[in-house]
Amino acid sequence: MRTLVGIDGCRRGWAAAIEHGDGRAELRVFPDFAALIAAVPEDALVVVDMPIGLPERIDGPGRAAEAAVRPLLGARRSSLFPIPARGAVEAWDGPHAGEAARGAAHARASALARAASEPPRGVSRQGFMLFPKILEIDRLLRADPALCGRVLESHPEAAFAVLNGGRAMASAKKAGGRPQGAGLGERRALLVRLGVPAALIDAPRPAGVGEDDRLDACAMLLVARSVATARARPFPDPPARDAHGIPIAIWLPRPDLCSAEEIGLEALQTSDGATMPLLPDALVSGYRSFVQGRYLQETQTYRALARDGQTPETMVIACCDSRAAPETIFGAGAGQLFVARNVANLVPPYNPDGEFHGTSAALEFAVQALKVKNIVVMGHGRCGGIKAALTSDAEPLSPGDFIGKWMSILQPVAETVASNELMTPSERQTALERISIRTSIANLRTFPYIAAREEAGELSLHGAWFDISTAELWAMDPETGDFQRPLVDVEDAVI
Ligand SMILES: [Zn+2]
Repeated sequence: MRTLVGIDGCRRGWAAAIEHGDGRAELRVFPDFAALIAAVPEDALVVVDMPIGLPERIDGPGRAAEAAVRPLLGARRSSLFPIPARGAVEAWDGPHAGEAARGAAHARASALARAASEPPRGVSRQGFMLFPKILEIDRLLRADPALCGRVLESHPEAAFAVLNGGRAMASAKKAGGRPQGAGLGERRALLVRLGVPAALIDAPRPAGVGEDDRLDACAMLLVARSVATARARPFPDPPARDAHGIPIAIWLPRPDLCSAEEIGLEALQTSDGATMPLLPDALVSGYRSFVQGRYLQETQTYRALARDGQTPETMVIACCDSRAAPETIFGAGAGQLFVARNVANLVPPYNPDGEFHGTSAALEFAVQALKVKNIVVMGHGRCGGIKAALTSDAEPLSPGDFIGKWMSILQPVAETVASNELMTPSERQTALERISIRTSIANLRTFPYIAAREEAGELSLHGAWFDISTAELWAMDPETGDFQRPLVDVEDAVI
């Protein structure tokens, strides 16, 4: 299991409620944030009560994250300090020698904050005292942007409100700077009910960690649990970003998924107590590199595609084969190719018989809704589906013989090729792979709207064949149906 960490700033640095991968839990204090990050595994998920992401200007009621969360807070609204623009925070020049120096620095920060906000707004004293801690995290994230994916901001009072069924806590934790028994007791009871272990909630506190710090760190740990189990959402959703690309969002459990029973991990455990992995490890690590690499570079593209919808110009019909992925072969990014994959890249003939037709449904959407300009049928070498079609005496893989039925789209020509004694087995294989492409293109023209759009010059149909071993891409001559040697000279490219 992944290590989860809930953090609250405290007098001695950072109070951390840690749930280790092996199930152990402990409350620790770290002098600085970098030491904390260094002390936990590289994939640990860290949720912290500290603003992350600093806009260059504040227009309106505050950072997008604060504006989004404020309505949840009810009577606990004042627990959310508005954070000013980056310039004001970065002007921190402490530690200050004495109250006078601190007051002067606060006044300077307020002036900078007012100049960078509309309506002009200064800095509260509590907000000002957070600056060094805000900057600690900010510098770390700017030096290592990958941390942005696993160091997330939350807010204890908003988390308590959501975890409490959408009701803000009845009493404050503190009054006049002093802890309040009723407020602490109320929060503690909620945390115990939601499964925070005794090792965190009952153990002696390290020096410099107040009871309120402990409770807030535990609340942050519950938020980390909800993020780790996909039961959380960012406010705003999607997060905003500052000029350095740092996400601006307060993460909270999703209200519909955070009852006492559901927030715990019990539901995700098998009967022997082992946690079921949400996804295979290889996919999680692949996904991590996507988020930290391609997504990070192309965030604006993804955002625009989400906002405006997709308008791909080309549909590709390809085989399911893991070695012939169209997006990889054509170097396509998000939004560029509309892809349907099935066994042996076949298009069935138009047949509106009321049965289930996956490929025909994809075609209908691509042509009628997206109005794609091209449809490319891409076959490939060493195709298992084609091989099955050439092996007429093979046993079905299951009683339903879905493959046999599907590949019968290529009958009777498959049988003719299979019985051709002038060809070697590998020639028969390649021949049928290419025939499958021509057959699919012919079947595309049996769809009335495809034929009509092609006739009108609004849609063109293409065939291609990919050689897995050499990466050669052969293209079909529309006049003759022959395949022409590579579009790009691969050997030149390799050298
Ligand atoms: Zn295939």
